[in-house]
Amino acid sequence: MAGAVNPDSVSTGARAMFFMITPNESSFQKVEDVPQYVQQATPFFVGLMVLELVVGFLKTGAPVVTLSDGLTSVSAGMISRIPLLFMRGCELTAYMFVWDRYRLLELPWDSAWTWWIAFLGVDFCYYWVHRLAHEVSFIWAAHQVHHSSEYYNLTTALRQSLTQQFTSWIFYLPMALFAPPTVFAVHIQLNLLYQFWIHTELIKNLGPLEWVFNTPTHHKVHHGRNSYCIDKNYGGILIIWDRLFGTFAAEKDKVVFGLVSPINTFEILYVQLHYYLYLGRRSTTFKTISDKCLTFINGPSWKPGKPRLGDHLDNPKLTGQEVPHDPSWSLPLQMYVIIHFLLALGTYQDVFDNKMTLSQFNMLGMTGYVLLTLTSMGFLIDQRPRAAVLEMLRCVLMVTMQRYGYMKPLLPTLAVTTQVRPRVVCYNSF
Ligand SMILES: [Zn+2]
Ligand SMILES: [Zn+2]
Repeated sequence: MAGAVNPDSVSTGARAMFFMITPNESSFQKVEDVPQYVQQATPFFVGLMVLELVVGFLKTGAPVVTLSDGLTSVSAGMISRIPLLFMRGCELTAYMFVWDRYRLLELPWDSAWTWWIAFLGVDFCYYWVHRLAHEVSFIWAAHQVHHSSEYYNLTTALRQSLTQQFTSWIFYLPMALFAPPTVFAVHIQLNLLYQFWIHTELIKNLGPLEWVFNTPTHHKVHHGRNSYCIDKNYGGILIIWDRLFGTFAAEKDKVVFGLVSPINTFEILYVQLHYYLYLGRRSTTFKTISDKCLTFINGPSWKPGKPRLGDHLDNPKLTGQEVPHDPSWSLPLQMYVIIHFLLALGTYQDVFDNKMTLSQFNMLGMTGYVLLTLTSMGFLIDQRPRAAVLEMLRCVLMVTMQRYGYMKPLLPTLAVTTQVRPRVVCYNSF
Protein backbone atom coordinates (compact mmCIF):
# COMPACT_ATOMS: atom_id res chain seq x y z
CA MET A 1 0.00 0.00 0.00
CA ALA A 2 2.94 2.29 0.50
CA GLY A 3 4.15 2.29 -3.15
CA ALA A 4 3.74 5.80 -4.58
CA VAL A 5 3.16 4.70 -8.20
CA ASN A 6 1.51 1.37 -7.53
CA PRO A 7 -1.82 1.40 -9.49
CA ASP A 8 -3.53 -0.18 -6.47
CA SER A 9 -2.30 2.68 -4.28
CA VAL A 10 -3.50 5.24 -6.80
CA SER A 11 -6.91 3.59 -6.92
CA THR A 12 -7.09 3.34 -3.11
CA GLY A 13 -5.94 6.95 -2.73
CA ALA A 14 -8.54 8.23 -5.19
CA ARG A 15 -11.36 6.23 -3.59
CA ALA A 16 -10.27 7.29 -0.09
CA MET A 17 -11.08 10.89 -1.09
CA PHE A 18 -14.76 9.91 -1.38
CA PHE A 19 -14.99 7.29 1.39
CA MET A 20 -15.25 4.54 -1.24
CA ILE A 21 -13.07 2.12 0.71
CA THR A 22 -14.14 -1.33 1.88
CA PRO A 23 -13.53 -2.73 5.40
CA ASN A 24 -11.52 -5.54 3.79
CA GLU A 25 -8.87 -3.27 2.34
CA SER A 26 -8.66 -0.92 5.32
CA SER A 27 -8.50 -3.16 8.39
CA PHE A 28 -5.11 -3.49 10.03
CA GLN A 29 -3.73 -5.29 13.07
CA LYS A 30 -0.98 -2.81 13.90
CA VAL A 31 -1.13 1.00 14.02
CA GLU A 32 2.17 1.17 12.09
CA ASP A 33 0.48 -0.61 9.16
CA VAL A 34 -2.30 1.99 8.81
CA PRO A 35 -1.58 4.02 5.65
CA GLN A 36 -1.01 7.76 5.90
CA TYR A 37 -4.11 8.41 3.78
CA VAL A 38 -4.02 12.18 4.34
CA GLN A 39 -0.30 12.48 3.63
CA GLN A 40 -0.71 10.41 0.45
CA ALA A 41 -3.63 12.53 -0.72
CA THR A 42 -1.54 15.55 -1.80
CA PRO A 43 -1.62 14.68 -5.55
CA PHE A 44 -5.40 14.22 -5.36
CA PHE A 45 -5.81 17.56 -3.56
CA VAL A 46 -3.80 19.28 -6.30
CA GLY A 47 -5.53 17.38 -9.14
CA LEU A 48 -9.03 18.15 -7.88
CA MET A 49 -8.18 21.82 -7.23
CA VAL A 50 -6.89 22.17 -10.82
CA LEU A 51 -10.00 20.38 -12.12
CA GLU A 52 -12.24 22.75 -10.13
CA LEU A 53 -10.35 25.75 -11.51
CA VAL A 54 -10.73 24.57 -15.12
CA VAL A 55 -14.38 23.46 -14.85
CA GLY A 56 -15.23 26.60 -12.86
CA PHE A 57 -13.67 28.80 -15.53
CA LEU A 58 -15.51 26.98 -18.32
CA LYS A 59 -18.82 27.26 -16.46
CA THR A 60 -18.61 30.80 -15.12
CA GLY A 61 -15.97 32.48 -17.29
CA ALA A 62 -14.07 33.55 -14.15
CA PRO A 63 -11.64 31.84 -11.79
CA VAL A 64 -13.37 30.30 -8.76
CA VAL A 65 -10.30 30.94 -6.62
CA THR A 66 -8.13 34.04 -6.20
CA LEU A 67 -4.39 33.82 -5.77
CA SER A 68 -4.32 35.71 -2.47
CA ASP A 69 -7.11 33.70 -0.84
CA GLY A 70 -6.04 30.34 -2.30
CA LEU A 71 -2.41 30.78 -1.20
CA THR A 72 -3.55 31.77 2.30
CA SER A 73 -5.73 28.66 2.54
CA VAL A 74 -2.98 26.30 1.36
CA SER A 75 -0.52 28.03 3.73
CA ALA A 76 -2.91 27.43 6.63
CA GLY A 77 -3.11 23.76 5.66
CA MET A 78 0.70 23.55 5.67
CA ILE A 79 0.98 25.22 9.07
CA SER A 80 -1.71 22.98 10.59
CA ARG A 81 0.42 19.88 9.93
CA ILE A 82 3.70 21.21 11.33
CA PRO A 83 3.14 19.69 14.83
CA LEU A 84 3.16 16.24 13.15
CA LEU A 85 6.86 16.76 12.45
CA PHE A 86 7.61 16.69 16.13
CA MET A 87 4.96 14.37 17.58
CA ARG A 88 2.38 11.77 16.67
CA GLY A 89 -1.09 13.29 16.19
CA CYS A 90 -2.73 14.26 19.50
CA GLU A 91 -5.92 12.37 18.63
CA LEU A 92 -4.23 9.00 18.08
CA THR A 93 -1.74 9.41 20.94
CA ALA A 94 -4.46 10.12 23.52
CA TYR A 95 -6.66 7.39 22.03
CA MET A 96 -3.91 4.75 22.36
CA PHE A 97 -3.21 5.84 25.93
CA VAL A 98 -6.85 5.27 26.95
CA TRP A 99 -7.13 2.03 24.93
CA ASP A 100 -4.00 0.55 26.53
CA ARG A 101 -5.07 1.30 30.10
CA TYR A 102 -8.84 1.63 30.34
CA ARG A 103 -10.60 -0.30 27.56
CA LEU A 104 -13.74 -2.09 28.72
CA LEU A 105 -14.05 -4.49 25.81
CA GLU A 106 -12.04 -5.25 22.70
CA LEU A 107 -13.91 -5.32 19.42
CA PRO A 108 -12.07 -7.49 16.82
CA TRP A 109 -9.93 -5.31 14.52
CA ASP A 110 -10.70 -7.50 11.47
CA SER A 111 -14.49 -7.50 11.71
CA ALA A 112 -16.62 -5.52 9.26
CA TRP A 113 -18.97 -4.80 12.19
CA THR A 114 -16.17 -3.08 14.08
CA TRP A 115 -15.31 -1.07 10.96
CA TRP A 116 -18.88 0.20 10.53
CA ILE A 117 -19.31 0.91 14.25
CA ALA A 118 -16.09 2.94 14.15
CA PHE A 119 -17.32 4.82 11.07
CA LEU A 120 -20.51 5.83 12.88
CA GLY A 121 -18.61 6.51 16.13
CA VAL A 122 -16.01 8.79 14.54
CA ASP A 123 -18.64 10.68 12.55
CA PHE A 124 -20.85 11.10 15.64
CA CYS A 125 -17.89 12.35 17.72
CA TYR A 126 -16.88 14.66 14.87
CA TYR A 127 -20.35 16.22 14.93
CA TRP A 128 -19.83 17.15 18.59
CA VAL A 129 -16.20 18.23 18.11
CA HIS A 130 -17.40 20.53 15.36
CA ARG A 131 -20.49 21.77 17.18
CA LEU A 132 -18.56 22.72 20.29
CA ALA A 133 -15.89 24.34 18.09
CA HIS A 134 -18.66 26.77 17.10
CA GLU A 135 -20.35 27.08 20.49
CA VAL A 136 -17.36 27.48 22.83
CA SER A 137 -15.32 30.61 22.15
CA PHE A 138 -11.86 29.34 23.08
CA ILE A 139 -12.31 26.37 20.70
CA TRP A 140 -13.84 28.68 18.09
CA ALA A 141 -10.62 30.72 18.34
CA ALA A 142 -8.97 27.72 16.68
CA HIS A 143 -11.75 26.70 14.30
CA GLN A 144 -12.48 30.21 12.97
CA VAL A 145 -9.40 29.76 10.74
CA HIS A 146 -11.37 27.31 8.57
CA HIS A 147 -14.19 29.85 8.22
CA SER A 148 -12.04 32.90 7.55
CA SER A 149 -12.11 32.60 3.74
CA GLU A 150 -14.76 34.66 1.99
CA TYR A 151 -14.72 32.12 -0.84
CA TYR A 152 -15.98 28.56 -0.99
CA ASN A 153 -13.81 26.29 -3.10
CA LEU A 154 -11.52 23.30 -2.65
CA THR A 155 -8.66 25.43 -1.33
CA THR A 156 -10.98 26.47 1.53
CA ALA A 157 -11.01 22.82 2.64
CA LEU A 158 -7.25 23.03 3.26
CA ARG A 159 -7.57 26.19 5.40
CA GLN A 160 -7.11 24.35 8.68
CA SER A 161 -6.24 25.43 12.20
CA LEU A 162 -2.86 24.93 13.83
CA THR A 163 -4.33 24.78 17.33
CA GLN A 164 -7.64 22.91 16.97
CA GLN A 165 -5.91 19.52 17.17
CA PHE A 166 -4.91 20.32 20.76
CA THR A 167 -8.55 20.29 21.92
CA SER A 168 -10.39 17.96 19.49
CA TRP A 169 -8.72 14.73 20.71
CA ILE A 170 -10.72 14.62 23.94
CA PHE A 171 -14.04 14.07 22.12
CA TYR A 172 -12.95 10.77 20.59
CA LEU A 173 -11.76 9.16 23.83
CA PRO A 174 -15.07 7.35 24.65
CA MET A 175 -14.48 5.24 21.54
CA ALA A 176 -11.14 4.11 22.95
CA LEU A 177 -13.06 2.12 25.56
CA PHE A 178 -14.06 -0.44 22.92
CA ALA A 179 -12.76 0.24 19.36
CA PRO A 180 -9.14 -0.69 18.46
CA PRO A 181 -6.76 2.20 17.62
CA THR A 182 -6.11 0.84 14.12
CA VAL A 183 -9.77 1.16 13.14
CA PHE A 184 -9.89 4.64 14.70
CA ALA A 185 -6.67 5.65 12.86
CA VAL A 186 -8.30 4.66 9.54
CA HIS A 187 -11.61 6.44 10.13
CA ILE A 188 -10.24 9.67 11.58
CA GLN A 189 -8.35 10.08 8.28
CA LEU A 190 -11.15 8.95 5.94
CA ASN A 191 -13.57 11.29 7.71
CA LEU A 192 -11.22 14.24 7.13
CA LEU A 193 -10.58 13.30 3.48
CA TYR A 194 -14.31 13.01 2.70
CA GLN A 195 -14.74 16.63 3.76
CA PHE A 196 -12.39 17.86 1.03
CA TRP A 197 -14.59 17.41 -2.06
CA ILE A 198 -17.68 18.99 -0.49
CA HIS A 199 -15.99 22.42 -0.47
CA THR A 200 -17.15 23.46 -3.93
CA GLU A 201 -19.97 25.49 -5.44
CA LEU A 202 -19.75 23.61 -8.73
CA ILE A 203 -21.68 20.55 -7.47
CA LYS A 204 -25.34 21.31 -6.93
CA ASN A 205 -28.17 19.26 -5.45
CA LEU A 206 -27.41 15.53 -5.28
CA GLY A 207 -30.99 14.30 -4.92
CA PRO A 208 -31.70 11.57 -2.33
CA LEU A 209 -28.07 11.62 -1.17
CA GLU A 210 -28.82 15.01 0.42
CA TRP A 211 -31.01 13.25 3.01
CA VAL A 212 -28.22 11.19 4.46
CA PHE A 213 -24.85 12.63 3.49
CA ASN A 214 -23.09 15.91 4.05
CA THR A 215 -22.93 17.38 0.55
CA PRO A 216 -21.52 20.54 -1.09
CA THR A 217 -24.89 22.31 -0.67
CA HIS A 218 -25.19 21.42 3.03
CA HIS A 219 -21.61 22.38 3.86
CA LYS A 220 -21.92 25.56 1.81
CA VAL A 221 -24.62 26.64 4.28
CA HIS A 222 -22.24 25.82 7.15
CA HIS A 223 -19.71 28.31 5.71
CA GLY A 224 -22.30 31.09 5.37
CA ARG A 225 -22.48 34.17 7.58
CA ASN A 226 -26.17 34.83 6.83
CA SER A 227 -28.13 34.55 10.08
CA TYR A 228 -29.95 31.41 8.85
CA CYS A 229 -26.55 29.72 8.29
CA ILE A 230 -24.92 30.45 11.66
CA ASP A 231 -24.35 27.35 13.84
CA LYS A 232 -25.88 24.95 11.30
CA ASN A 233 -24.83 21.75 9.46
CA TYR A 234 -21.97 20.46 11.61
CA GLY A 235 -21.92 16.93 10.15
CA GLY A 236 -18.74 15.36 8.75
CA ILE A 237 -19.81 12.55 6.40
CA LEU A 238 -23.43 12.15 7.53
CA ILE A 239 -25.93 14.99 7.80
CA ILE A 240 -28.33 12.82 9.82
CA TRP A 241 -26.76 14.08 13.09
CA ASP A 242 -27.86 17.63 12.27
CA ARG A 243 -31.35 16.41 11.38
CA LEU A 244 -31.47 14.46 14.68
CA PHE A 245 -30.12 17.22 16.94
CA GLY A 246 -31.94 20.16 15.34
CA THR A 247 -29.00 21.94 13.73
CA PHE A 248 -29.90 21.30 10.08
CA ALA A 249 -30.57 24.14 7.64
CA ALA A 250 -31.22 23.84 3.91
CA GLU A 251 -29.89 26.46 1.49
CA LYS A 252 -32.32 29.37 1.04
CA ASP A 253 -31.03 32.88 0.27
CA LYS A 254 -27.71 33.50 -1.46
CA VAL A 255 -24.97 32.38 0.92
CA VAL A 256 -22.36 35.01 1.88
CA PHE A 257 -19.20 33.21 3.00
CA GLY A 258 -16.73 33.92 5.76
CA LEU A 259 -16.65 35.24 9.30
CA VAL A 260 -19.38 37.54 10.64
CA SER A 261 -16.65 40.20 10.90
CA PRO A 262 -14.20 39.57 8.01
CA ILE A 263 -10.53 39.91 8.95
CA ASN A 264 -9.47 41.42 5.58
CA THR A 265 -5.89 40.19 5.78
CA PHE A 266 -3.78 37.38 4.35
CA GLU A 267 -1.13 37.47 7.08
CA ILE A 268 -1.02 33.84 7.99
CA LEU A 269 -0.14 33.96 11.69
CA TYR A 270 -2.79 36.61 12.23
CA VAL A 271 -5.32 34.34 10.48
CA GLN A 272 -4.32 31.50 12.83
CA LEU A 273 -4.04 33.33 16.14
CA HIS A 274 -5.87 36.67 16.10
CA TYR A 275 -9.03 35.40 17.81
CA TYR A 276 -7.12 34.36 20.94
CA LEU A 277 -5.86 37.93 21.31
CA TYR A 278 -9.35 39.26 20.63
CA LEU A 279 -10.84 37.04 23.35
CA GLY A 280 -8.17 38.17 25.82
CA ARG A 281 -8.90 41.83 25.08
CA ARG A 282 -12.66 41.27 25.15
CA SER A 283 -12.57 39.58 28.56
CA THR A 284 -10.87 42.64 30.05
CA THR A 285 -13.84 44.80 29.05
CA PHE A 286 -16.12 42.93 31.48
CA LYS A 287 -16.19 43.77 35.17
CA THR A 288 -17.18 40.51 36.88
CA ILE A 289 -14.98 37.42 37.07
CA SER A 290 -17.86 35.25 35.81
CA ASP A 291 -18.37 37.40 32.70
CA LYS A 292 -14.64 37.35 32.02
CA CYS A 293 -14.67 33.52 32.18
CA LEU A 294 -17.87 33.22 30.16
CA THR A 295 -16.16 35.16 27.33
CA PHE A 296 -14.06 32.04 26.74
CA ILE A 297 -16.70 29.39 27.46
CA ASN A 298 -19.89 30.73 25.87
CA GLY A 299 -20.49 31.20 22.14
CA PRO A 300 -18.66 33.85 20.08
CA SER A 301 -21.84 36.02 19.83
CA TRP A 302 -22.54 35.93 23.59
CA LYS A 303 -22.87 39.13 25.59
CA PRO A 304 -23.76 39.53 29.30
CA GLY A 305 -27.51 39.17 29.73
CA LYS A 306 -27.90 37.13 26.52
CA PRO A 307 -28.34 33.33 26.11
CA ARG A 308 -25.25 31.09 26.01
CA LEU A 309 -24.90 31.38 22.22
CA GLY A 310 -25.82 35.06 22.08
CA ASP A 311 -28.38 36.54 19.72
CA HIS A 312 -27.49 36.19 16.05
CA LEU A 313 -29.72 39.16 15.25
CA ASP A 314 -27.00 41.29 16.88
CA ASN A 315 -24.60 40.34 14.08
CA PRO A 316 -23.91 42.82 11.24
CA LYS A 317 -26.76 42.80 8.69
CA LEU A 318 -26.07 41.46 5.19
CA THR A 319 -27.28 43.01 1.96
CA GLY A 320 -26.33 40.16 -0.36
CA GLN A 321 -24.05 42.59 -2.22
CA GLU A 322 -20.99 41.87 -0.08
CA VAL A 323 -17.74 41.57 -2.08
CA PRO A 324 -14.84 39.45 -0.74
CA HIS A 325 -11.67 41.27 0.27
CA ASP A 326 -9.42 41.00 -2.80
CA PRO A 327 -6.78 43.74 -3.01
CA SER A 328 -5.30 44.31 -6.46
CA TRP A 329 -1.57 43.66 -6.81
CA SER A 330 0.77 43.76 -9.76
CA LEU A 331 1.42 40.75 -11.99
CA PRO A 332 5.22 40.78 -11.35
CA LEU A 333 4.55 40.72 -7.59
CA GLN A 334 2.12 37.84 -8.07
CA MET A 335 4.75 35.90 -10.04
CA TYR A 336 7.35 36.62 -7.33
CA VAL A 337 5.02 35.38 -4.58
CA ILE A 338 4.11 32.22 -6.53
CA ILE A 339 7.77 31.33 -7.13
CA HIS A 340 8.84 31.85 -3.52
CA PHE A 341 5.77 30.06 -2.23
CA LEU A 342 6.63 27.04 -4.39
CA LEU A 343 10.24 27.12 -3.16
CA ALA A 344 9.00 27.15 0.45
CA LEU A 345 6.62 24.30 -0.41
CA GLY A 346 9.63 22.32 -1.66
CA THR A 347 11.44 22.89 1.65
CA TYR A 348 8.27 21.96 3.57
CA GLN A 349 7.96 18.68 1.66
CA ASP A 350 11.65 18.07 2.18
CA VAL A 351 11.33 18.32 5.98
CA PHE A 352 8.45 15.81 5.98
CA ASP A 353 10.30 13.43 3.63
CA ASN A 354 13.45 13.49 5.75
CA LYS A 355 12.08 13.93 9.27
CA MET A 356 13.55 10.61 10.41
CA THR A 357 17.11 11.68 9.52
CA LEU A 358 17.12 15.43 10.13
CA SER A 359 18.13 16.70 13.57
CA GLN A 360 15.59 18.60 15.68
CA PHE A 361 17.74 21.70 15.21
CA ASN A 362 17.72 21.39 11.44
CA MET A 363 13.98 20.68 11.37
CA LEU A 364 13.29 23.72 13.56
CA GLY A 365 15.44 25.87 11.25
CA MET A 366 13.70 24.68 8.08
CA THR A 367 10.24 24.93 9.67
CA GLY A 368 11.06 28.46 10.87
CA TYR A 369 12.14 29.37 7.34
CA VAL A 370 8.84 28.04 5.91
CA LEU A 371 6.82 29.97 8.53
CA LEU A 372 8.77 33.15 7.86
CA THR A 373 8.22 32.74 4.11
CA LEU A 374 4.47 32.24 4.47
CA THR A 375 4.29 35.24 6.80
CA SER A 376 6.30 37.39 4.41
CA MET A 377 4.10 36.33 1.47
CA GLY A 378 1.07 37.49 3.50
CA PHE A 379 2.75 40.85 4.15
CA LEU A 380 3.43 41.20 0.40
CA ILE A 381 -0.15 40.32 -0.57
CA ASP A 382 -1.44 42.79 2.04
CA GLN A 383 1.14 45.29 0.69
CA ARG A 384 2.09 46.39 4.16
CA PRO A 385 4.70 49.12 4.66
CA ARG A 386 7.12 46.69 6.37
CA ALA A 387 6.74 43.96 3.71
CA ALA A 388 9.94 44.92 1.86
CA VAL A 389 12.09 44.86 5.01
CA LEU A 390 10.70 41.52 6.15
CA GLU A 391 11.13 40.03 2.68
CA MET A 392 14.73 41.25 2.51
CA LEU A 393 15.52 39.64 5.88
CA ARG A 394 13.85 36.43 4.71
CA CYS A 395 15.94 36.31 1.55
CA VAL A 396 19.12 36.84 3.58
CA LEU A 397 18.11 33.95 5.86
CA MET A 398 17.30 31.74 2.85
CA VAL A 399 20.66 32.37 1.19
CA THR A 400 22.52 31.91 4.51
CA MET A 401 20.81 28.59 5.23
CA GLN A 402 21.66 27.30 1.78
CA ARG A 403 25.20 28.60 1.94
CA TYR A 404 25.91 26.72 5.17
CA GLY A 405 24.09 23.53 4.16
CA TYR A 406 21.12 23.81 6.50
CA MET A 407 18.77 23.66 3.56
CA LYS A 408 18.78 21.79 0.25
CA PRO A 409 19.51 24.01 -2.78
CA LEU A 410 16.10 25.37 -3.74
CA LEU A 411 16.82 25.02 -7.44
CA PRO A 412 19.22 22.05 -7.64
CA THR A 413 19.80 22.43 -11.37
CA LEU A 414 21.09 25.96 -10.84
CA ALA A 415 23.15 25.13 -7.77
CA VAL A 416 26.89 25.67 -7.93
CA THR A 417 29.47 24.43 -5.46
CA THR A 418 30.15 27.28 -3.08
CA GLN A 419 32.21 25.42 -0.53
CA VAL A 420 33.64 21.97 -0.07
CA ARG A 421 33.78 21.76 3.70
CA PRO A 422 32.07 18.66 5.17
CA ARG A 423 29.20 20.77 6.51
CA VAL A 424 27.77 21.06 2.99
CA VAL A 425 27.48 17.32 2.54
CA CYS A 426 26.22 16.86 6.08
CA TYR A 427 22.73 17.99 5.10
CA ASN A 428 20.32 15.42 6.55
CA SER A 429 22.66 14.60 9.40
CA PHE A 430 22.72 17.74 11.55
ZN1 LIG B 1 -17.19 24.85 11.13
ZN1 LIG C 1 -15.60 23.49 5.70
